[in-house]
Amino acid sequence: MKGKKVYGGIAIGTALLVKEQSIEELIEKKTINKENVEQEIERFKTAHKKTIEDIEKIKDRAMSTVGSSEAQIFEAHLDMANDPMFIDSVINKISSDLLNAEYAVLEARNEIVETFMSIQDEYLKARANDIIDVTDTLIKNLIGVENQNIADVSKDTIIVANDLKPSQTIQLNNYVKGIILEEGSVTSHAAIVAKAKGIPTLVGVENALETIKNDAVVIMDCDNVDIIINPSEEQLKHYSELEKKQNEEKARLSLYKDKKCLTKDGHEIKIFGNVGSIEEAKLVKENGGFGIGLLRTELIYMNSNHFPTEEEQFKYYSEIVKLIPNEVIIRTLDIGGDKMLPYYKFPEEMNPFLGLRAIRFCLQNKEIFKTQLRAILRASAFGKVKIMLPMISNLDEILESKKLIQEAKNELKQENIAFDENIEVGIMIEIPAAAISSDILAKEVDFFSIGTNDLIQYSCAVDRMNKNVSYLYEPYHPSILRLIKMTIESAKKNHIEVGICGETAGDPDYAMILAGMGADELSMSASMIPIVKDRIAQYTVEELLKISKLVMQQTDSKSAYQALIGGKKC
Ligand code: PEP
Ligand code: MG
Repeated sequence: MKGKKVYGGIAIGTALLVKEQSIEELIEKKTINKENVEQEIERFKTAHKKTIEDIEKIKDRAMSTVGSSEAQIFEAHLDMANDPMFIDSVINKISSDLLNAEYAVLEARNEIVETFMSIQDEYLKARANDIIDVTDTLIKNLIGVENQNIADVSKDTIIVANDLKPSQTIQLNNYVKGIILEEGSVTSHAAIVAKAKGIPTLVGVENALETIKNDAVVIMDCDNVDIIINPSEEQLKHYSELEKKQNEEKARLSLYKDKKCLTKDGHEIKIFGNVGSIEEAKLVKENGGFGIGLLRTELIYMNSNHFPTEEEQFKYYSEIVKLIPNEVIIRTLDIGGDKMLPYYKFPEEMNPFLGLRAIRFCLQNKEIFKTQLRAILRASAFGKVKIMLPMISNLDEILESKKLIQEAKNELKQENIAFDENIEVGIMIEIPAAAISSDILAKEVDFFSIGTNDLIQYSCAVDRMNKNVSYLYEPYHPSILRLIKMTIESAKKNHIEVGICGETAGDPDYAMILAGMGADELSMSASMIPIVKDRIAQYTVEELLKISKLVMQQTDSKSAYQALIGGKKC
């Protein structure tokens, strides 16, 4: 079986199929006798009470693991379950239409879902899935089918699913050794959390739920993108030895948790984490990240039913800043492209990735931008916060943004609200135009952070999500190496810090080149932090510089990579 690697390594365990059985398959429509109406309503009420308790439990778990802001979704589930119109509709179907309770719930929910789907409102359409989620639990409670509880696994397990919902990723404990998903995206919520947790994971594994049986022994060799079901004794022995070595290596790397990232000759490089949630921020701390180099704020906008208020954002940002007060670089809203909001209609565009996104959207919607800036400034009272502007392509965008930041500061001052007056403002260098004019832009900002994910996409003109052209997505392309070098040099000449927060920073091979070019900071997924620290510690600054020069001399990606591998050995 084949798929795409999200996080490498070997995993051995017993398969647990997380399968959503359709409710329609589980229940049938029945007519009840009039004298049984009261009893049926009681059954409904008991199941309803248990459903509320179930949601409360998940909410509490979310509160303790990922924080209050992200537990909000379960608050919405509670509201739906307690909606009097929904409850009345079910009771009415039992008492007037003489339907059995489970079918009454199914009909009531179908009516609500139908109404929501018929309204031209993306938010209501998206909420239909939440209603299905809640009523599925309610019906399962009525018929006594347990919701699968991943949190209870107590032996080495490989989770096999189509995809995992946020309420399920929260439940992943240390017995979950590997994850196999049928869904294809390496940037899905489940994939991001699995990578941050360092769980060997493959996605895009077609028909996994049909091919793998519950309780089968499964070996995942994620580096070679291979899955073995019911292995032979010999295979099991071979892979168990590899897994043992991997665990010893993990234990060795865990010693870096409380250590700075130093080259062999003692030069420090800041190692930060990329996060999109409080859950991931906690993982950065656990893995020994010094700070957060990229807080992707779009996720709180995407998980909400409205533009988050200043208060909601302030609460979320300050929760993260209090967790990691050393340094948190908060990126302002990077929306548009493929990141849509269910409650906002973006204009139809021929090329959304080249359209109204990120800073362009914010500067055309100043009130939304200002709300976020005020919330970020207020969070800066609790630790070192920096503001980072995404998708900058020219000087005007910086100047206009700085004007708005100043306005927000003036307002807060007048309102006697605390914030860091000297907050640093930096930009992402992720558009070739910005990299090429980085010497000009450096004069107006306090730091750069190179976003190689988009820099490669825009330089090579290759959609970063498109599998048909993924062979052209080349981090080692001479143009990319030159743009990065050029940006680092501009930063150095202007005495500002420069970091990298694209995926390349968390690749230990590529990190060597970046460090050799003089990057001050590398920001990556939490699980990569000790691995990159370990790699940098093997080389002196001089050696890293030599390797990066060697790589820069090559004429194509392949030879650049080979030069790196050769340089590593010397
Ligand atoms: C990047 O473009 O490299 C980056 C870090 O931002 P994102 O992946 O969120 O676009
Ligand atoms: Mg980007």
